[in-house]
Amino acid sequence: MTHDHEQRPLSELQSHVAGKYIEAIGDIEELELLGGRLCLDFVNTVESRSDLVTGEPPKGYKEYLMNYEDLVHWGGHVQLLSAEQQTALLQAAARMPEAAHSCFERAIAFRETLCRVFSAIASGGAPAAADLEAVQSAYMETMAQGQLAAATDGAGLAWRWQPPEDALDQVLWPVVRSAVELLTAPEVARVKVCPGVGDCGWLFLDTSKNGRRRWCSMESCGSRVKMRRYYARTHTGQAEDSGGEHGGDDGKD
Ligand SMILES: [Zn+2]
Repeated sequence: MTHDHEQRPLSELQSHVAGKYIEAIGDIEELELLGGRLCLDFVNTVESRSDLVTGEPPKGYKEYLMNYEDLVHWGGHVQLLSAEQQTALLQAAARMPEAAHSCFERAIAFRETLCRVFSAIASGGAPAAADLEAVQSAYMETMAQGQLAAATDGAGLAWRWQPPEDALDQVLWPVVRSAVELLTAPEVARVKVCPGVGDCGWLFLDTSKNGRRRWCSMESCGSRVKMRRYYARTHTGQAEDSGGEHGGDDGKD
């Protein structure tokens, strides 16, 4: 009996995000939820995804999900799991460390699949067939866990989700459903990749009236872009950022 799932060496996690290395570990309590849909917030547990913006090879990144326990805490952070559900899942994970770790690995793989699918659509391309197959099979597995039952409000039927309290992957079910709901809705055309100052790459659903929102957050990325432009104007007399310097900008807000 070992508890090494809590002490996985970083090297095992390095391949989780397309060969990037983990530069820092994020605090889930401080993770901003800016995607506008659960599935996009799940993708935005990596900071940053600059390669989505620049097309350059990925650099190091900040990872918010290091193990199954983090996944459970994220479920609490996005209000999917109550405190009682989190406790039950953490206890189940302690009893079944191998299963918890493999659930975590599937979650991260699914997160990266979603990132590829949505960023392909956001850039006007088509998602890879293998990625769509992965989304489809995750959806079929998830729906097999639901029960079709009489709706509690009004007539008709509704899906009911009553996972056993030790169903480790229950935190992923709403994420999977959220992804397929968005992918099959017209508003998927409003999914965008935040450019930041070449360093963000978070996905968000643009729900603005005119559909011209550019940044994941006006307070962070938007204001940084404006400051850059202001700096460029006042220091070089040019109207636009030259784009060639990165002085003092570490991608954090
Ligand atoms: Zn951003």
